[in-house]
Amino acid sequence: MTVVGVIGGGQLARMMIPAAVNLGIDISVFAETEGSSAHLGQTQIGDFTDLSQLAAFARTVDVITFDHEHVPLAHLHALREEGAVIHPPPEALALTHDKTVMRNALHALGLPQPRFAILSSLAEGEQAVSEVGGFPCVAKLPVGGYDGKGVRVIQSLQDCADWISAGPVLLEEFVDFHRELSQLSARRPGGQWVPWLPVETRQSNGVCSEVLSPAPGVSEELVAEARSIAHTIAESLGVVGVLAVELFELPNGQLLVNELAMRPHNSGHVLTEQSVTSQFEQHLRAVADIPLGSAALREPAGAMVNIFGSARFAEYSLIAADFPEVKFHSYQKQPRPGRKAGHFVVTGEDSNVTLERAKKALQALQGVSA
Ligand code: ADP
Repeated sequence: MTVVGVIGGGQLARMMIPAAVNLGIDISVFAETEGSSAHLGQTQIGDFTDLSQLAAFARTVDVITFDHEHVPLAHLHALREEGAVIHPPPEALALTHDKTVMRNALHALGLPQPRFAILSSLAEGEQAVSEVGGFPCVAKLPVGGYDGKGVRVIQSLQDCADWISAGPVLLEEFVDFHRELSQLSARRPGGQWVPWLPVETRQSNGVCSEVLSPAPGVSEELVAEARSIAHTIAESLGVVGVLAVELFELPNGQLLVNELAMRPHNSGHVLTEQSVTSQFEQHLRAVADIPLGSAALREPAGAMVNIFGSARFAEYSLIAADFPEVKFHSYQKQPRPGRKAGHFVVTGEDSNVTLERAKKALQALQGVSA
């Protein structure tokens, strides 16, 4: 049986473990520290920026996949030259490492996205700003940003002068979207591809805080368009595993690609309870080249809320009696302000009802954690 090696010991690797147990796949996690979220079962501790440690790990597994997108691409190419099987491949992962690479690649594929320009010096500023439609516009750090930390809405170039002096900055038009969606799907090496229905993501301070599944009121045309965009990306880049395409839905129903993840994604956590096949199981099936499972929904509505900061499982037990229908997922991380500590999922008949219930449970947890 295949041994799947997961680089990164965060909550995504953690949640692959029960899926691997059920599939009878051996999973080996290359985690950063003993205290990592996925430090359960078969874990090796190491530094993912150190090629020799990665190579030693690669020799113990049949296929490598990821919990995050921070492993240097040069290391992945070197591992592949030594014979490692890497899913998704480094060529596809390049788009998730650098937003300018992603924008250029999506442009070459003719896919809809915000107008963009790559700004290397303040001298190019005026031209770049006019290419994206003037101020306000959005400045992004091409590499290393996450959870909105490398994103600023700017009114003048001075607002991102500190970034420009350190390296190229991605400028994008400010998109006045109706809402944000995420299209999740999975692809196997031979091309089998299975999409879920798009979900709606809601952010606070640039971080996803709530998800509604499926996105309420999506038309058949919108579903077809979201799937077509995701399929084009998955197929043309040879993505293997779960692909999340974050989308802006404009007031006229048009979709623009915001960004990509090539691994299970926060927007797909609700599927663990709601879908016949969770995103973690589907990712493992894809990378281990097992026929994909059904992405049908068992219940018509689902909601997920992220839990940030100091919430702890012990405190959840204090509210559990009042919320028996709430599914709690702890990441067992050291609590830190703003850090994702876990999530709640509620499924049922109606999105608003499930979301309200999940939010009530969150408020109750915050009440006992305070
Ligand atoms: P990260 O990689 O940190 O998640 P994103 O590029 O996804 O950053 O941006 C974070 C959030 O910022 C998005 O979810 C969206 O709400 C907002 N945002 C990003 N790009 C734009 C844009 N071009 N126009 C308007 N809002 C944007």
